[in-house]
Amino acid sequence: SMVAERILRRRSLEIRNRQQDWQGSPEGQKMIEFRKSLPAHKERDTLLAAVSQNQVVVVSGETGCGKTTQLPQYILESEIEAERGATCNIICTQPRRISAMAVSERVAAERGESLGESVGYKVRLEGIRGRDTRLLFCTTGILLRRLLLDRELKGVTHVIVDEIHERGMNEDFLLIVLKDLLPRRPDLRLVLMSATLNAELFSSYFGAAPMIHIPGFTFPVRSYFLENILEATGYRLTPYNQIDNYGEDKKWKMQKQTLRKRKTQIASAVEGSLEAADFTDFSRQTQESLSCWNPDSIGFNLIENVLSHICRNERPGAVLVFMTGWDDINSLKDQLQSHPILGDPSRVLLLACHGSMSSAEQKLIFNKPEDGIRKIVLATNMAETSITINDVVFVVDCGKAKETSYDALNNTPCLLPSWISKASAKQRRGRAGRVQAGECYHLYPRCVHNSLSEYQLPELLRTPLQSLCLQIKSLQLGSISEFLSKALQSPESLSVENAIEYLKTIGALDEKENLTVLGHKLSMIPVEPKLGKMLVYGAIFNCLDPIMTVVAGLSSRDPFMMPFDKKDLAESAKAQFAARDFSDHLALVRAYDGWKEAERKQNGHEYCWHNFLSSQTLRAIDSLRKQFFYLLKEIGLVDNLETCNMWSEDNHLIRSVICAGLFPGICSVVNKDKSISLKTMEDGPVLLYANSVNAQEFKIPRPWLVFNDKVKVNSVFLRDSTAVSDSMVLLFGGSILPTRLESRYGHLTMLGGYLEFFTRRSLADTYLRLKTELDEF
Ligand code: ADP
Ligand code: MG
Repeated sequence: SMVAERILRRRSLEIRNRQQDWQGSPEGQKMIEFRKSLPAHKERDTLLAAVSQNQVVVVSGETGCGKTTQLPQYILESEIEAERGATCNIICTQPRRISAMAVSERVAAERGESLGESVGYKVRLEGIRGRDTRLLFCTTGILLRRLLLDRELKGVTHVIVDEIHERGMNEDFLLIVLKDLLPRRPDLRLVLMSATLNAELFSSYFGAAPMIHIPGFTFPVRSYFLENILEATGYRLTPYNQIDNYGEDKKWKMQKQTLRKRKTQIASAVEGSLEAADFTDFSRQTQESLSCWNPDSIGFNLIENVLSHICRNERPGAVLVFMTGWDDINSLKDQLQSHPILGDPSRVLLLACHGSMSSAEQKLIFNKPEDGIRKIVLATNMAETSITINDVVFVVDCGKAKETSYDALNNTPCLLPSWISKASAKQRRGRAGRVQAGECYHLYPRCVHNSLSEYQLPELLRTPLQSLCLQIKSLQLGSISEFLSKALQSPESLSVENAIEYLKTIGALDEKENLTVLGHKLSMIPVEPKLGKMLVYGAIFNCLDPIMTVVAGLSSRDPFMMPFDKKDLAESAKAQFAARDFSDHLALVRAYDGWKEAERKQNGHEYCWHNFLSSQTLRAIDSLRKQFFYLLKEIGLVDNLETCNMWSEDNHLIRSVICAGLFPGICSVVNKDKSISLKTMEDGPVLLYANSVNAQEFKIPRPWLVFNDKVKVNSVFLRDSTAVSDSMVLLFGGSILPTRLESRYGHLTMLGGYLEFFTRRSLADTYLRLKTELDEF
């Protein structure tokens, strides 16, 4: 070990010498000058002293002051100076993969190295690191995964958790785990970094850990609200303009109660403030226009108008547009591309900035375009804090945000766009004042801004806990409710109990709250458990293609469009896809398959047009399907490409698998004379949404409907549904059975109860045999 120590020491010296050489070179000098100009530099010694004297330190500072790129580097440099350059091991987590990649590249460049020398990164399915890598940027999810295998974080000397102010679920989750670990690892150092000033919360969570604030600088930014924009541009909102994009909240995945409560809160706050607002200073035109403003929707036309106003009238400078998600970014981009100014590449460089862009695209975003060309970047709220585009002078803020990332440990792939907080709005505005005074165009009235909440609710308190509970179990963190009671802000115990109960019902947890084989698989699939279960069953029963389509469809918007003026035509188009199969899900499968076929013949657009389908949503479904397939292969659920679609034409089987996923979302069907009466186990009578194919029927010749979602308006309404038979519920439902079935088939449930994954062959055989015996079709 003396020899080993000597080798390590020599390596440390080598690393130090290499750094000194680079720092002596002209580029090195220039870089050092730049780094010294950042506000973080003045605090370097204070920061390093605090880190060496305390186990936990909380650092805050305005975006762009140098937290992410400098602080981990300061620690690395001081370790190298102390000749621990070969033994230190610094991990810095980022909430998003793109920032992990961008930041590591930047830090390597600041050190005159390429990635994989002292600095590296690791995100899901990708990474660059080498033998000498001592500073690793990774997603929060990656560190959580590492904890799964190495609960003590052996060999890690520093953990830096970045962007904690966002209060993402993964970050809150990681903090509980780390808080638990610290007493067992007294030598481990933890640094928490946050953009805004709620550092006290984190400090007190870690027993009054010291806080260090980096004072920053920004230039003043002038705010324009909707009324000012309308007044200045003469643009008029029309009710028609409002129908376009954001109204659809169909596929929301939030915990229903919370969402409903929040939605009404927000809606009434917005309405209240609109009523209270006094717009008398503005022209009649503007006042009329404001009365058409719909808080649920943001017209792309309005954004287009603002952008062309900037391009025609304003000084040079890049524009950053905050949108809610990348599907919206793409369709806005499509629209802008046919605009005479905005779509002209000799005048405008139009870029999209989202989580899954390539590093070539990233470069374009950071680079300054040629003189005379205006850069316009359409971004998600990722550009709020994680990514800094230096030359931005104008910000356009739609006022809403949505989680869209699809990351293995990000549990909620699709959320409803909702109003941002004042803190976010301020953050967005601040992005315009990086290099000179800037301007921010808020696409909502000032009175609405005043009614926004101060901070966003932490993700842990506003998303379903089912996936999180699975994860707590798969990380072997003990009792779920005990674990969650240790969070910064704990979710209500009722939501926790509901989640556990649900996981037991679908067979992911056993009675003692232990992970089942199914639960283990589900914890590796980043969609809601019920959709994950559908995928698992689709893989086991070899009907993967249609099931992937169903799951992808349920995770995106509804591709079936129902324009008000052509409702009948649209309904009959959808009914044709349903082919009297009494299933919205099968209708989707056929519509998608038809579209793929049409795409192959180059007439996808025409196909969508005739059938009232959104080609954009179908494309999104297509790309999700690819991700699912890759993932299922990765976790070993699909091994044989030849057989995985052996039963894909078998409608009964597909229905059964849909039933497996959606159970206990089930209601009984009783056909009356001219109407159908539907009842769920817990709500009593329920109704179908008008755009379900089953809503057009006078009789449903099956005893049950399984459904994806239910929403209470005045009555309880069911969304997409599929008719299923007794045998399907018996074999593919959960452990509890509707009473009607219990009495008739109780003795058979052990055959169909839980599916055992290791006997997939015999299971498929069992199913087929039972299908012949019990089939009622
Ligand atoms: P913080 O984490 O405090 O928001 P960062 O450390 O990310 O700040 O960035 C500090 C500064 O480094 C930014 O203001 C910007 O000037 C510069 N910078 C960061 N990333 C890049 C990059 N990829 N290319 C050029 N400059 C960058
Ligand atoms: Mg940062």
